[in-house]
Amino acid sequence: AHLARIDAVDEKVHAFLHVDREGALAQAGAVDAKRARGEKLGPLAGVPLALKDIFTTEGVPTTVGSRILDGWVPPYDATVTRRLKEAGIVILGKTNMDEFAMGSSTENSAFGPTGNPWDLTRIPGGSGGGSAASLASYQAPLAIGTDTGGSIRQPAAVTGTVGVKPTYGGVSRYGMVAFSSSLDQGGPCARTILDAALLHEVIAGHDPLDSTSIDAPVPPVVEAARNGSVAGLRVGVLREFRGEGYQAGVLQRFEESVELLRELGAEVVELSCPSFDSALAAYYLIAPSECSSNLARFDAMRYGLRMGDDGTRSAEEVTSLTREAGFGPEVKRRIMLGTYALSSGYYDAYYGSAQKARTLVTRDFERAFAQVDVIVAPTTPTTAFPIGERADDPMAMYRADLCTIPVNLAGNTALSLPCGLAPEDGLPVGLQIIAPALADDRLYRVGAAVE
Ligand code: GLN
Repeated sequence: AHLARIDAVDEKVHAFLHVDREGALAQAGAVDAKRARGEKLGPLAGVPLALKDIFTTEGVPTTVGSRILDGWVPPYDATVTRRLKEAGIVILGKTNMDEFAMGSSTENSAFGPTGNPWDLTRIPGGSGGGSAASLASYQAPLAIGTDTGGSIRQPAAVTGTVGVKPTYGGVSRYGMVAFSSSLDQGGPCARTILDAALLHEVIAGHDPLDSTSIDAPVPPVVEAARNGSVAGLRVGVLREFRGEGYQAGVLQRFEESVELLRELGAEVVELSCPSFDSALAAYYLIAPSECSSNLARFDAMRYGLRMGDDGTRSAEEVTSLTREAGFGPEVKRRIMLGTYALSSGYYDAYYGSAQKARTLVTRDFERAFAQVDVIVAPTTPTTAFPIGERADDPMAMYRADLCTIPVNLAGNTALSLPCGLAPEDGLPVGLQIIAPALADDRLYRVGAAVE
């Protein structure tokens, strides 16, 4: 049924870069056979899922939204991919994304944008716009995204779906193509809090193949999602996440959500995290710096595209021609920004200062979480904007992640869930819930109470 739905609508939505019809049907058949044999199956066995094209899939193309990996077929599965398969989940295909996960609208995909199912002329968020759009257009009930600065939560907010950024280290990064390794985190996307929790439990947990993976039990997210409650909980509201640049309807729905939390028995505490004003600037030094190092591996020798290799050119010339043709403008911008920020003479001024700002953000969160159990905020300052509106204005695009980036810098956990439609445009608004590292279950408990 989901493959038929993809056939019917994806020509318009363009959520998928690759549909793995054969693989999906084979996995569904294998689950059926197990059921027929009376074997024990997990709760998500046989459930279809859309996988962001940043996770390697053995024998199935993985492009990361980039021409430079066009035609590359990975010889191995990411840990997330492997765990999905072991749980009997049916991977329908690979979803569209901003090239190398750099963007907030999926317009930076080398393979064309994805439409927001609420209004196909608007962006579905990014970088995981394909995953979010697949959920909102009922092409898949579950999806996987990655969140470096907001790429799970912001698409969830603007498509009216649920997206979770787990605690950094909670979900293995092995086989997840690296953008900014100290910030990147894979996580679940779904249409309900409980669905997201069930998926979270499948993909989370220690992985010896990822040196930053946390060796601790997975927080009890499913139990929390089944027992929503905020009675007696202290909920922080931040002074920094309002005012200029925020759409009136977004703030209105946010205020109503805070009111609902109060009615349900939460104690609302007003807080300030002054360092968050520097978070966006710090992120746009740290993420490009790490990306400029990570993307050095795309040298035309190891994977994917190779240009001008006609026997007359040196390896350096082939590398250079390949990068020129294979990387899009945003990726080139980030590599240049990062290379500059890391160069000797500028390193202390830029990268060093950004790391200090990152420490301040982490401390502000620590101070806040000494007073409250969770923080709530809008997920994005505005609803989905029209495709093309911010394409020539990188700073306007970067501001889409104003409310999500501090969480990645600190490594803690947050989710976005729908909290109504903005009155002025009838488009979905996301409520963000933020918790300290390793308290992912708290997000689900609160999310289930207000869903
Ligand atoms: N929009 C942010 C960026 O462009 C975040 C992307 C992400 O989370 N992958 O870097």
